[in-house]
Amino acid sequence: MNIILLGAPGAGKGTQAKRLEESRKLVQLSTGDMLRAAVASGSDLGLQAKEVMDAGRLMPDDLMVQMISERIEQDDCRAGFILDGFPRTTPQAEALDEMLTGKGLRLDAVIEMTVDEEVLVERITGRYSCSTCGAGYHDKFQVPAKAGVCDQCGGTEFKRRADDTEATVRTRLDAYREQTAPILPYYRNKGILKTVDGMAAIDEVTRQIEASLAA
Ligand code: ADP
Ligand code: ZN
Repeated sequence: MNIILLGAPGAGKGTQAKRLEESRKLVQLSTGDMLRAAVASGSDLGLQAKEVMDAGRLMPDDLMVQMISERIEQDDCRAGFILDGFPRTTPQAEALDEMLTGKGLRLDAVIEMTVDEEVLVERITGRYSCSTCGAGYHDKFQVPAKAGVCDQCGGTEFKRRADDTEATVRTRLDAYREQTAPILPYYRNKGILKTVDGMAAIDEVTRQIEASLAA
């Protein structure tokens, strides 16, 4: 099963993708994480990505599609993937379809997660993750059971994304509203768009997603 999680930054895509990975044995492909890993590795792709991301812009479509195409060829993606953070524009959605069709693959569902903008700002500026295993947390909404210790792996080092500040969040929300939200009708027309209430508690959002995939 191949799924896209679509929603503004902070809508809960990463949080839900981690759960779907477990429940459905799918692989989460977070293009943001893939790019940040490329930046950390200092590869050619990473150097380009750093420049683009520091400026709050989007990467060229062909590079992104190529990065995803190579990733889904790998064995662990055979049961399917969850795309999180891609596509962000209608041309990207079209290029993705073309690439998947070329491989004989298709999208089963596109799950839209809706959340009010003021809540998004609060979620993004409060989020952090475990440096060891990547588990996601929030200062208010998802604190580890034992302060300073990761629930998943026991790690004690955490990190925050450099772009998770109030200033860049506004720009990212504008980009979502202007460039990404207009993709929704594209998937609605294909009959694969499902909408869930991203304002609900994390477990309830998971329940709604599972229900929409079973329908
Ligand atoms: P995205 O991947 O869409 O940018 P995240 O999954 O990183 O969003 O979620 C952003 C922040 O909001 C995280 O700190 C996460 O713990 C928290 N969060 C996610 N879903 C919910 C929810 N349904 N209710 C409250 N907080 C949430
Ligand atoms: Zn951890």
